Amino acid sequence: MLEKLWHTGVDVFRLNMSHGDHADKADIVARIRAIEKKIKRPIAIMADLQGPKLRIATFAEGSILLKKGQRFTLDLVDEPGDGKRVYLPHAEIIEVLEPGMQVLLDDGKIRLEVIERRDQAIVTRVQVGGTLSNRKGVNVPDAVLPMAALTPKDLRDLDFALDQNVDWVALSFVQRPEDVAEAKKIVAGRAGVLAKIEKPSAVDRIEAIVELADAVMVARGDLGVELPVEDVPGAQRKIIRAAREMGKPVVVATQMLESMIKSPVPTRAEVSDVANAVHDGADAIMLSAESAVGDYPIEAVTVMAKVAVKEEGDRGKNRPLANVFTPHATAEDAISAAARQVSETVGAKAIVTFTSSGATALRAARERPSVPIMALTPNERVARRLCIVWGLFAVKTRDVDSFEEMYQKAKRMALRYKFVSGGDRIAITAGVPFGTPGATNVLHLAWISGDELKGWE
Ligand code: PGA
Ligand code: MN
Repeated sequence: MLEKLWHTGVDVFRLNMSHGDHADKADIVARIRAIEKKIKRPIAIMADLQGPKLRIATFAEGSILLKKGQRFTLDLVDEPGDGKRVYLPHAEIIEVLEPGMQVLLDDGKIRLEVIERRDQAIVTRVQVGGTLSNRKGVNVPDAVLPMAALTPKDLRDLDFALDQNVDWVALSFVQRPEDVAEAKKIVAGRAGVLAKIEKPSAVDRIEAIVELADAVMVARGDLGVELPVEDVPGAQRKIIRAAREMGKPVVVATQMLESMIKSPVPTRAEVSDVANAVHDGADAIMLSAESAVGDYPIEAVTVMAKVAVKEEGDRGKNRPLANVFTPHATAEDAISAAARQVSETVGAKAIVTFTSSGATALRAARERPSVPIMALTPNERVARRLCIVWGLFAVKTRDVDSFEEMYQKAKRMALRYKFVSGGDRIAITAGVPFGTPGATNVLHLAWISGDELKGWE
């Protein structure tokens, strides 16, 4: 199934560390790496850490019924709950909640308002009631919790994930830029760090978070619990804009094709949602339950791939507003912008960029050119990590050390992967002197002659 999913259009596989154990995950990683070997293309793996997911404890009867208007207490007493109270094993929430703040239970299905704070407890009034059962999730959208972004479980999972050489680590419930900085320090370049934006406090400080993170995700599941649902589309646009401006990959996630968990066809609204995410400038669109536990994983990936390809079909001719961002005043951006313009002017078939860290490839993608970008890198891990980025076709290949070798290799790779045929042109970007990682400073336009086709057809 994993191999079929890749052929259907998957670029990145997410391992959700909230479920299963390390042995399961190691098995999946090994399978994906075996597929990679077979198909000879890089595949990215993302380990998604659970984060500080807050939960209530249990009830003597297993569940209770909360009625609108009644009082209900959350306290620090480690005893089974009843219709009047329950144990909330997180002193840090009890400490920061103030009267007037909201407490949401069970994915926001139940809403409480804090009316009084006591020493070891908070008293609330039920605004929206319902049945509440053991260990349901707790969201406190109004508060920034004095909690570390990485729980002890996350630290264990992170260790494991880095040991497995995953390419991306996703952080859940990022609240502030410092959370990203802390994770980046531990990861120390061994993987990309993606910040999941699912708290209002993170949306408020999105620029600073995007600046520190290697990528971000619009995590609409929890975001839609923490924010009124009608605020989520605006937050999505704001997050995508911030990421696009800085040239960091942005993923749009959750409920994209929710009905396809049980149905082989999507709703029209879901198709529009996927198309709009692509139109707004997302680098990647994510499936969750649809492919993790749904009945139609192949169908769901097929729909996503088709909608994305269709939506991007006439980019360039009708460059959407979301795709226009002024280049920054750097050599990489100047060359990347020029490569886009030159390739569009002469109708080149691809931009081929030589990149050692992947940084130049990101700047090339930020330009959203109307032709594909091939990113050639000597580093396999960079090639894998780049799979999440918009419009990039990453190839691991040996470094070049002369100008001649540079354009010969670029032409050879463009031919090998069928981006070009005889008479086509490609735009090549690289940094000279070769082999020393540094600023990209060369833009070369190359022509594929008929002779070069021999042996490729
Ligand atoms: P999750 O994150 O699926 O790990 O909760 C995504 C989201 O909240 O949308
Ligand atoms: Mn989430």
